[in-house]
Amino acid sequence: MKRELTCIVCPIGCQLSVTLENGIVTEVTGNTCPRGKQYAIDECTNPVRTITTTARTSNGGVIPVKTAAPIPKELMFDCMKEIDRSVVTLPAKIGDVVIENLLGTGVDVVVTANMK
Ligand code: SF4
Repeated sequence: MKRELTCIVCPIGCQLSVTLENGIVTEVTGNTCPRGKQYAIDECTNPVRTITTTARTSNGGVIPVKTAAPIPKELMFDCMKEIDRSVVTLPAKIGDVVIENLLGTGVDVVVTANMK
């Protein structure tokens, strides 16, 4: 089986062609550096994403937040719903934990801006 991907590791965006046999990556072409090959392998076997979004604050506004590390791609929508339910108590500073262990992923959601 062949899969075509665009590498998102850097802005060049190389077009990758991935050959899979029984779920195992056997060949990656189109990458111009080793990071592209690793991206293709990860994307085809264990895709992950970092969520960058906003959460509501105790004064009715919003504050930027993100997952402290990438989470499994298939959990993105459920994780977004969980973040939507959260309310950040102000004042808050960069690195404050909004949600610990988001949906059992072992990854926290943290604040990415200072706000009074
Ligand atoms: S393969 Fe390398 S050069 Fe190409 S987009 Fe990915 S990281 Fe950038």
